[in-house]
Amino acid sequence: MHYLVLSDIHSNLNAFEAVLADAGPFDQIWCLGDVIGYGPQPNECIERLKSLPHICVAGNHDWASIGKLDISAFNTYALRACLWTRKQLTPDNWEFIENLPEKLVEDRFTIVHGSPRHPIWEYITDPGMAAANLPYFDTTYCLFGHTHKPIVYACDDSHSTCGGFVLPLNEPAPIPEERLLINPGGVGQPRDHDPRASYFLLDLERNTIGYRRVPYPIEETQQLMLSLGLPRLLAERLSVGW
Ligand code: ZN
Repeated sequence: MHYLVLSDIHSNLNAFEAVLADAGPFDQIWCLGDVIGYGPQPNECIERLKSLPHICVAGNHDWASIGKLDISAFNTYALRACLWTRKQLTPDNWEFIENLPEKLVEDRFTIVHGSPRHPIWEYITDPGMAAANLPYFDTTYCLFGHTHKPIVYACDDSHSTCGGFVLPLNEPAPIPEERLLINPGGVGQPRDHDPRASYFLLDLERNTIGYRRVPYPIEETQQLMLSLGLPRLLAERLSVGW
């Protein structure tokens, strides 16, 4: 089976479509949460995802947008976008977001948005955080998002240590056998100073994992955001991949 592993679409349909066009044939999308929030097309992104074979977990922006999560920790810009998103969602799409699970297990993979320890909120930002999360999943591998930065943490379970590395671009590599925490980066708002949409491809027949980046019409997304009254900073950051 071929899986398209992606996270943090953040209502950016142009970025999502670019990923779908670039990915080639796949059997299922594994979506790591934050389908909505920040960007201009929440309903369109949910409906596009629903039109394809997929599984998906909840992200903090997903649940914040429907009031299922306390948003007092959000910064002003995230909060404004969140409240705007809340007003846009159709009843069907609201229900879709409400019913997303916090955690899924597929094959050898645990799937969460933030971390296995705190699936909605925790950011895994360094090898120490990755190691601290090892006791919180039973599978060999964990897929997570939330930071919008592509990285793989390879861990030595017996010593509770991990090291982070970035996969080579466009070169599917064998999936290492040690325990891994894997983040495919962000589709709709990358934050590693590369504005291209980021995602991974998993081929479980060949047992390979591939890292891909794809450009998309950023200005179109930005113009739409500004015309809808979303914060200018949220539009501008897309140009610089932050
Ligand atoms: Zn996010």
